Amino acid sequence: MEEQSLRQRAVTIVLGPAGPVRVRTSMTLIPFVVFVLFAFVQHGEVMLGLVDLTESNWLTAFNLGGSSLFYLLVRTRLSERLSRDPFLTLPQILFPICSIAWSYAITGPARGAVIAIMVVTIVFGMFALDPKMAPRLALLAFSALAGVMAWRGATAPERYPPVVESVHALFAAIVMGATAVVVIRIGRLRARLAEQKRELADALSLNQELATRDPLTGLLNRRAMVELLAREHARSARGHGPLSIALLDIDWFKRVNDSLGHGAGDDVLRRFATGVQSQLRTVDGLARWGGEEFLVVMPGTALDDALIVLERLRAAIARGGFDVIAPALAITFSAGLVQLHTGESQDAAIDRADRALYKAKKAGRDRVETA
Ligand code: GH3
Ligand code: MG
Ligand code: MG
Repeated sequence: MEEQSLRQRAVTIVLGPAGPVRVRTSMTLIPFVVFVLFAFVQHGEVMLGLVDLTESNWLTAFNLGGSSLFYLLVRTRLSERLSRDPFLTLPQILFPICSIAWSYAITGPARGAVIAIMVVTIVFGMFALDPKMAPRLALLAFSALAGVMAWRGATAPERYPPVVESVHALFAAIVMGATAVVVIRIGRLRARLAEQKRELADALSLNQELATRDPLTGLLNRRAMVELLAREHARSARGHGPLSIALLDIDWFKRVNDSLGHGAGDDVLRRFATGVQSQLRTVDGLARWGGEEFLVVMPGTALDDALIVLERLRAAIARGGFDVIAPALAITFSAGLVQLHTGESQDAAIDRADRALYKAKKAGRDRVETA
């Protein structure tokens, strides 16, 4: 445990706090580590007499100085103040291109391997830049190498024979061209994956919407209400106050359909839903329970207060403006209201509300009955 937190602290010091800074900083450490390894290899080449010591030291100083400068700029977030691109992408790509071309110029007989290392720069650039930049990046890297090849071929032909340099140049062109093609293809693949991920997220949220909402009224559907009720039931059981529920059923709704048509019936359902919803608090829940039946959940509300809410609802629906659907159309509803008993299941409570609703219908409709 202790060791773990120590390790975490070390990681935070080196890479910065978790988040974009850490991602950027660890990316700058990749070239730094590569250049440290280079320094060892180059020193071996010096010992083998392949590379001049002074030239090697200058290049190592350039490599380690430059890459640690990038690391520090990004880690201290100074780069954020210096540039709109806090990763300093372009300089971070131009820097190794210069370094590798320079390395080619001093490495002598072992210089062939340097070409392969230039390829890594293009791949590194792929993660930081738009993959569409890959051909330009490959061209730039190739031009830098080809320039050095031509220059060394002209100024030091014994160490860099022009024929050999021509072969190297061809080899470099093929390898970098191929790398650019691969990078573009990977870029397309990544773009397609990102697109698919977006589509999947959209489909998921639509699915969620369809699974929890009634399409006609936009209210919660029965399934979602069962879940909401279970949550509120559990909260109430944990001592978060009483819980009341009411089952509402529009009176003589079949007549609306029969006399005005199904479309007008749908309009009534929508208007009814909006009318009821507008009278409820945000903590209350409202669902379309079935055809023209609605369920209201009132958390933290005892029966007496719930009855007041229901009477307010009845008044609101009575002046609900249904006459915009058909002249003189008036809508009423009957309701069964209960407060959940301790230890009572939600199904049992809904049954009670249903019985109370039946009582309200039998007693002449347009009223609220409790049970
Ligand atoms: P009561 O006062 O006893 O409740 O009478 P009612 O006519 O309201 O009751 P009944 O259960 O006989 O009729 C309900 C009607 O609701 C029957 C059904 O066609 C209609 N209905 C159910 N869902 C929809 C819907 O989505 N749109 C429309 N327009 N009508 C619906
Ligand atoms: Mg009904
Ligand atoms: Mg009805």
